Amino acid sequence: MRCLITGGAGFIGSHLTEHLLGLGHEVVVLDDLSTGSESNLAAFADDPRLRFVRGSVCDRDAVDSCMAGVDAIYHLAAAVGVFTILGKTLESLRTNLNGTETVLEAARAHDVPILVASTSEIYGKNTADGLTEDADRIVGSPLVNRWSYAEAKALDETLAYLYGIEYGVKTVIVRLFNTVGPRQSGRYGMVIPRFVGQALAGEPITVFGDGQQVRCFCHVLDVVPALVALLEDEGAHGTVYNLGSSEQVSIADLAHKVIAATDSSSTVVKVPYEQAYGAGFEDMQRRIPDCAKARDRVGFRPRRTLDDIIRSVVAEHRLP
Ligand code: UDP
Repeated sequence: MRCLITGGAGFIGSHLTEHLLGLGHEVVVLDDLSTGSESNLAAFADDPRLRFVRGSVCDRDAVDSCMAGVDAIYHLAAAVGVFTILGKTLESLRTNLNGTETVLEAARAHDVPILVASTSEIYGKNTADGLTEDADRIVGSPLVNRWSYAEAKALDETLAYLYGIEYGVKTVIVRLFNTVGPRQSGRYGMVIPRFVGQALAGEPITVFGDGQQVRCFCHVLDVVPALVALLEDEGAHGTVYNLGSSEQVSIADLAHKVIAATDSSSTVVKVPYEQAYGAGFEDMQRRIPDCAKARDRVGFRPRRTLDDIIRSVVAEHRLP
């Protein structure tokens, strides 16, 4: 098969690229390198089955130039990371709305199945213990910058769903919950690479808020095979799946785990949200997925623990 991965030079996209090449497929990567990096592809850049195209998903011509012979699309390209969304809110909104519609149009024109990556962020402030795919969205005002990301991704989901219903495009949507692992950058806000970097440098670990907010971190290598399984399974199309881990941790406990794993002399400092992200920021206090739907459909069961995840990120950061 030949697969197009938008955002294929990003953190998750590059792991998906590597996985699909490993399965013997050809991969076309479309990436504008806004947050992705060619260095993420370096380990397999010489593979003749990989083609890299630098371009934006908002550019119809760039997307079309990637479509020849493509049998499947993984649409991962997006403006990501809380720092990115807060720093470039309008640009991010445009990328996340227009980019998805452009790629869906290409899927429709070429009659190719498409996976659209969405996010647990769309559940907003719903603190349910085990968010199922039909859980209510509790997002704040659309004028609070953070929520514009959730709004855009929710509309992306609706678009993908309607392209399926009205145009017959084979679509599957996944909501990713705090996917982490090697190649993820801390530059855009993601907490684990930030904490590991701080711990290895002996700098204070910056816990935002009171540190009691809870997340479940899932290793990217547990997520990637599920993306492929869901798109390849026609019975999975036309709906949405949560993908994440059920292992809960508070951010304060995470800081201490990272300090222990790195044997660091770092201290933990609490940074008020306003200072970290600016005035009016709203965080979610608990974000815990229920992934029974993906488990029942494609056997999704994350195998790597949080300790495994921290170890793998520390090992990568220690490389020269
Ligand atoms: N966080 C933190 N310190 C940091 C970066 C993030 O305490 O240096 C917190 C952040 O406020 C959130 C959690 O860690 O409560 C996870 O943040 P991330 O941006 O990785 O993912 P989110 O779940 O917010 O999408």
